[in-house]
Amino acid sequence: MNFTPVSKEAFAILAACSRSREYFGIAVDPVGKRQFKLVWSFKMTKDQAIREGTDKRNVQGQIIIDQNFNFCPYCGGKMFAQCGNCGHFICYNNETNQCPICHIRIGGFQEASDFSFGGGGF
Ligand SMILES: [Zn+2]
Ligand SMILES: [Zn+2]
Repeated sequence: MNFTPVSKEAFAILAACSRSREYFGIAVDPVGKRQFKLVWSFKMTKDQAIREGTDKRNVQGQIIIDQNFNFCPYCGGKMFAQCGNCGHFICYNNETNQCPICHIRIGGFQEASDFSFGGGGF
């Protein structure tokens, strides 16, 4: 698997799989002022996320998906959405009606089709 290197400003955010209800982290690299690139995802437990403060971080702005992004590390789902309530990314499917992180019914989800798919280089 190819991994795109990230900058010093990169950080991790919390995400969750709505099928398995497992948590995972996404390495995010800020590209511009309000642009964030999702670079790779990795399995992470809820305890780890809380211990490392990953659950406190959110991104607001334009989301770019790196060409090497591996999507959901649990089910491989490629539909991602951002919860309108907690702001976390969810591996989303059509049967989902609840955010696995904040447990609010999905309503304000931004579908991943709105995201831009960007290449590796800047
Ligand atoms: Zn998933
Ligand atoms: Zn939520």
